[in-house]
Amino acid sequence: MRTTDTIYINGSFVRPHGKEEAPLFNPATEEQIGTVRLGDEQDVDNAVSAAKAAFASQSQSSKAERIAMLHSLHDAVAARASDLADAMREEYGAPASFVGFSVLHAATAFLNMAKTLESYEFRRRIGHAEIEMRPAGVAAAITPWNSNYGFICNKLATAIAAGATMVIKPSEMSAIQTQLLTECLHAAGLPDGIFNIVNGYGHVVGAALSSHHDIAKISFTGSTVTGRAILQAAAATFKRVTLELGGKSPNIILDDADLDLVIPQVLAAGFANSGQACIAGTRILAPEGRLTEIHDHLAQAVATLKVGDASDPTVRIGPMVSRKQWDRVQSYIRLGQEEGARLIVGGEGRPKGVDRGWFVRPTIFSGVNNDMRIAREEIFGPVLCVIPYRDETHALEIANDTVYGLQAYVFSSDVDRAKRMADRIEAGRVVINGAPHEPAAPFGGFKQSGIGREFGAAGLESFLEPRAVLS
Ligand code: NAD
Repeated sequence: MRTTDTIYINGSFVRPHGKEEAPLFNPATEEQIGTVRLGDEQDVDNAVSAAKAAFASQSQSSKAERIAMLHSLHDAVAARASDLADAMREEYGAPASFVGFSVLHAATAFLNMAKTLESYEFRRRIGHAEIEMRPAGVAAAITPWNSNYGFICNKLATAIAAGATMVIKPSEMSAIQTQLLTECLHAAGLPDGIFNIVNGYGHVVGAALSSHHDIAKISFTGSTVTGRAILQAAAATFKRVTLELGGKSPNIILDDADLDLVIPQVLAAGFANSGQACIAGTRILAPEGRLTEIHDHLAQAVATLKVGDASDPTVRIGPMVSRKQWDRVQSYIRLGQEEGARLIVGGEGRPKGVDRGWFVRPTIFSGVNNDMRIAREEIFGPVLCVIPYRDETHALEIANDTVYGLQAYVFSSDVDRAKRMADRIEAGRVVINGAPHEPAAPFGGFKQSGIGREFGAAGLESFLEPRAVLS
């Protein structure tokens, strides 16, 4: 049993003022593996004061100094990559492929932002105005459990590049991972107060940050429901907000696609991170003329996916993060059947031969229409819908008929044709034929998938305020 009983304020590990404790679990065994002592409003005040004091010098730091900080942070995180990977597997059960990507992505977030910073001009001229891009002020980051390291590192990298300081509230379910990451960030030796990390519940620590009068900017990743609450709380003091929220991404197979090539990628997008991914391609849009063929390919491919404890590197689908999440996914599998959809593969309960752990059978429904709740609501588990379409126009209608707009996938043997489709999809990112992540390109959602963008220059500018001096 591990006890996490410190938070990080002004360059030191300190005991929180808050006294409440929360249990931590290994989702593959359902066993409690630790406890975390949580912060409260007083801890938020202390952390914000430290960040505010540090802002005075950080906001005046040079580009070269910030780049050096980002490199130190990268080195410190990369140095403990294997410990970070172990903690992620144990506390969260992510499969090996995602753990590998996630830890690397977290460390390189600092290098990517350093590269953006090198070529970014903080001063420029427009007509007779001199423009200066100034740091927005003390920022707060509020992050979810489903990629704890990546979200913390990317948000912190962006704040540092902008000359801002930060208070970070990670998910209360990721405290073992957070503790390890905080040790790495501390080892980078940055001046005190530039970043502060307060564990705590959303309705306590998250809410206190969202309404704090000394916080100028909030960068949030999490559910649309929480994003709405943060936006409302932030409105009183007109905080700048970046919200990275949920999705129900279309995963469009065009009629010319080579299914042998495409189906594994369709499933990789749909079951990304055991289905616990905001960008998961959960609505598979299939041409009517090839529906039976697509069902067969999907069923065969899913049968080869190994579900189990992520300590086995061949496992493709790990457990759900919590009992609550397992129950929620089960309720959607039940709901799909009640709504009249047909199971191609999977169903309720644990996979055959598994008697403990929050494991779900990878599930695909056919006979789904886009009005069903399983096609409209974010399930956040390995549950996909196949929705048939008549022609490209119909596919686009279905793809865009959602309150979300985070990411979309198009598969075709003709890239130009796929690009023409991409032009008409309402989503912040469209991925053609499984193209890899581009860390300098903007990332974020249309519609209720969020406000603003992260990564690259677009991300950096979300932490900056332009000022024009006219002479
Ligand atoms: P969540 O919204 O429940 O929690 C996210 C964070 O917000 C946690 O730290 C939580 O403690 C905090 N929080 C909760 N209530 C709060 C409140 N009232 N005020 C302030 N903070 C509060 O989300 P989750 O379950 O941790 O993560 C899953 C969700 O995150 C999914 O909806 C997923 O789509 C979304 N997500 C989005 C992205 C993206 O980049 N768009 C990435 C990953 C996850």
